[in-house]
Amino acid sequence: MPSSILTPDDLFRCTRCGDCCRGFGGTYVSRQDIEAIAWFLATEPSGLIDRCCHRSGGRYLLAQRADGYCIFWDQTCTIHPVKPRMCRRWPFIESVLADASNWTIMAALCPGMRTDVPLDYIRGCVQRVLAAEASNPKR
Ligand code: SF4
Ligand code: SF4
Repeated sequence: MPSSILTPDDLFRCTRCGDCCRGFGGTYVSRQDIEAIAWFLATEPSGLIDRCCHRSGGRYLLAQRADGYCIFWDQTCTIHPVKPRMCRRWPFIESVLADASNWTIMAALCPGMRTDVPLDYIRGCVQRVLAAEASNPKR
C-alpha cells in the first residue's frame, strides 16, 4: 500500500483495553481541556481542579485512583466526548516525528497500534495528522 494513502484508521484501532488510562505518569490537561471537562460534568473549572487534578511542574494532571487508573476510567472513558487533547491524539504525537522508533516503544504498551508497517510510512501518516490538526485546531 502506498504510504501516502495510509490513514490513521489503517494504523490504529483502539481496543478500549484501558491500559493507557493507568500509570504512565498521568494525563496532562490544558486550560481548554479543564474547561471542556467541567462543562461536560456541569461543574466549575475551579471545582474540577480541586477534585480531579493535581499539579506537576506548573501543569495540571488528571488525578489517578489508588489502583493507578485515571480518575475518569470506569470500564471506559467516562468523559470520552471531551477527553483531553493528550488522550484524543494518541498515538499520533510529536515524539513519533522526532523518532519514529518511538511508535514501536509505544505499541508495546498499546494493543491497538500496528507494528507491521514500515516506520517511514507511519511517520508520514503522523505528519499528515499533525499538519491537519495544526491547520484546523479545535482545542
Ligand atoms: S492502550 Fe491503546 S488500545 Fe488500549 S485503550 Fe489505550 S489507546 Fe486504546
Ligand atoms: S481522560 Fe479518559 S482516555 Fe484519558 S486517561 Fe482518563 S480515562 Fe483514559
